[in-house]
Amino acid sequence: MLYLAKDDPALAELVKNEENRLETTLNLIAAENHSPHSVLEVMGSVFNTKTIEGYPGNRFHAGCINADQVENLAIERGRSLFKAEHVNVQPHSGTSANLAVYFSVLKTGDRILSMSLPHGGHLSHGHSASITSKCFDFSHYKVDPETERIDYDQVRQMAHCLKPRMIVAGASSYPRLIDYEKISIIAREVSAFFLSDMAHLAGLVAANLIPSPVLYSDFVTFTCYKTMMGGRGGVILCKKRFGKKIDSAIFPGCQGTSAVNLIAAKALIFKLAMEDKFVQAQKNTLENARVMARLLMEKGYHVISGGTDNHQVLIDLTDKGISGRTAESVLESIGIILNRNVVPKDENASGKVSGIRLGSSAVSARGMGDDQMREIVELMDMALMNLTNTVIIDQTKERVLALCREFSINSKVN
Ligand SMILES: *Cc1c(COP(=O)(O)O)cnc(C)c1O
Repeated sequence: MLYLAKDDPALAELVKNEENRLETTLNLIAAENHSPHSVLEVMGSVFNTKTIEGYPGNRFHAGCINADQVENLAIERGRSLFKAEHVNVQPHSGTSANLAVYFSVLKTGDRILSMSLPHGGHLSHGHSASITSKCFDFSHYKVDPETERIDYDQVRQMAHCLKPRMIVAGASSYPRLIDYEKISIIAREVSAFFLSDMAHLAGLVAANLIPSPVLYSDFVTFTCYKTMMGGRGGVILCKKRFGKKIDSAIFPGCQGTSAVNLIAAKALIFKLAMEDKFVQAQKNTLENARVMARLLMEKGYHVISGGTDNHQVLIDLTDKGISGRTAESVLESIGIILNRNVVPKDENASGKVSGIRLGSSAVSARGMGDDQMREIVELMDMALMNLTNTVIIDQTKERVLALCREFSINSKVN
């Protein structure tokens, strides 16, 4: 950051502080990951300043010779990595990708069936605070109250009763695998389009460790900064017959110029995802989440659905008498960074957030394994059970720091 330090020392200091914060804390935010330096490099490259509209070979400005190759590379690699028929790498975000999918084949006011937010869904799946709910008529399916897993019979019943034009699978806080084939059959029964949003799961899918929705879905969306470790931005995969509609729904439909630097980062992460190091990090991610879930249950925590099949562990803290917000802040005070999260039980109590969500991606990218997961769970439990005991809180802080020093991000991620 030599140039930044010269032009704006205060801002350069903040960048340094952020690097330091990441090095000295444990990142359990399920929606984050550490990206390789090469990803950060290409995102900060001169491609930042190139203005492009349209698609390779059909642009609205001159000077796209290199940008065209970057976008084609991202598309080709994305197609081969995810075995997709058509790829659009221009979405600025996952929300933008979902909006474009809705607008590509639906008319405003059309009905969409998706997962309820307190049950795991995402804002962009028709939450009342999201623009998506103002454009389309959403209904939401839920998890079964006993198993805390998707109730596919309910999905079928709702689909047959409501006749949606689109069904959405995918979640931001759901620790179990989704049966995409089952939902695709339901979608076919009612002639609905089928969108799978694998924002959280793309890295695990890319590494071939969990089932891919690509074969069963008309559209698949994801973001590159979660398990995928590729920095900001979204991607849409779709069947060939929807390719033109998707491309024009993104540009000029929902977006203007696209970020060539982020498209370049997508091309890069799609290449790295085919290499051993990436696959190993994703394997460790799955294993580490399982270990954390098991140990937390052994300590008596209510782990939603009794475990995990992906990188997430969701804990309902209701029976511990601790709110999600309190847990989030006491854990932050000892250097364990995660987020409070709604759980199914919060659905009818407006504003109530009774859970926390853990993700294993970032600590796995850092090279941590079983022993470190055991230590992390131990430290979380000590802090949560001793909220006001400053001696214990200080001890846990020291142990978090020791763990961070042993697993430096810089040496492990790059
Ligand atoms: C994270 C996420 C998104 C997209 O997020 P952006 O913040 O818009 O990039 C979309 N869908 C799901 C299910 C997500 O978890």
